[in-house]
Amino acid sequence: MARATTEERAESTAPADRARDSLLINISDVVKDYVTDAGTFRALDRVSLQVAPGEFIAVVGKSGSGKSTLLNMITAIDRPTAGDVWVAGTNLSRLPERQTASWRGTTIGVVFQFFQLLPTLTVLENVMLPMDFAHRGSTRARRDRALALLAEVDMVDQANKLPLSTSGGQQQRAAIARALANDPPILVADEPTGNLDTATATAVFQLFERLAAANKTVLMVTHDAELASRTHRTVHMVDGRIVDGPPRHAGAVATAGALAAAGADSTPAAPSAHPTAAHPSHATQRLSENLRDG
Ligand code: ADP
Repeated sequence: MARATTEERAESTAPADRARDSLLINISDVVKDYVTDAGTFRALDRVSLQVAPGEFIAVVGKSGSGKSTLLNMITAIDRPTAGDVWVAGTNLSRLPERQTASWRGTTIGVVFQFFQLLPTLTVLENVMLPMDFAHRGSTRARRDRALALLAEVDMVDQANKLPLSTSGGQQQRAAIARALANDPPILVADEPTGNLDTATATAVFQLFERLAAANKTVLMVTHDAELASRTHRTVHMVDGRIVDGPPRHAGAVATAGALAAAGADSTPAAPSAHPTAAHPSHATQRLSENLRDG
């Protein structure tokens, strides 16, 4: 029962809090300092960000600008040095450490540049894994849901293969199915197309568009300006701050549904080459380690 009491404390109840909770993500004045041998390094410098349910947001910026650190605040992989992070009605500063993994498991699906599927499990078992951790339903129900999710990403025929015997694009589609396993309201993707060729990247991006159209909130770090321009909103990061980006031309601000209706499938994407493709950052590595261990 002690657990329920602490969970209640992490939830908001006052009317003002409820209004704020209509935002799925509400970050205010977040600072993140890393203390290193060379001194204190400020990776996030008074960052504020508000995200409504169903938004598809691109997070862009040079390597080292703080994108992964920002995602780590939202996924509760890391805690801010100062400032508030509210996600899906929970104040993450007040979420007890021991509840963090289960909170994350049901609130946020995470997709990585290098897929991070467990190589010794089949594609199907990988997709079932978050449901196993969450003790969700019977084994049969988990399997049925995993197969349904694999069908959504056109991967049923690969279900019994080991991940490494499928292509990069197929692994990323399986990873998206895994991220959806517990039906989280939020998907966070750290350069999900960075390791894919242009055509495959476009197909994966279209999956995110469909999910946003189905009211999932999607935050995607990307170096691909063309893909970023097709999301609802772009957050530009420079030296740990969110800055105003260049104004979008009117046609670029479209809903995922409108894009689909306009036949966006055939729009060629720009090449997604970027300097960090082969070198996941500290923050990204920590995110994947936490999810594996959690
Ligand atoms: P991006 O995702 O935009 O490439 P990161 O969020 O990974 O940037 O990193 C932002 C800055 O914070 C970088 O300068 C990075 O070196 C630094 N940083 C990230 N994690 C740590 C850490 N654990 N310790 C020290 N510095 C870190």
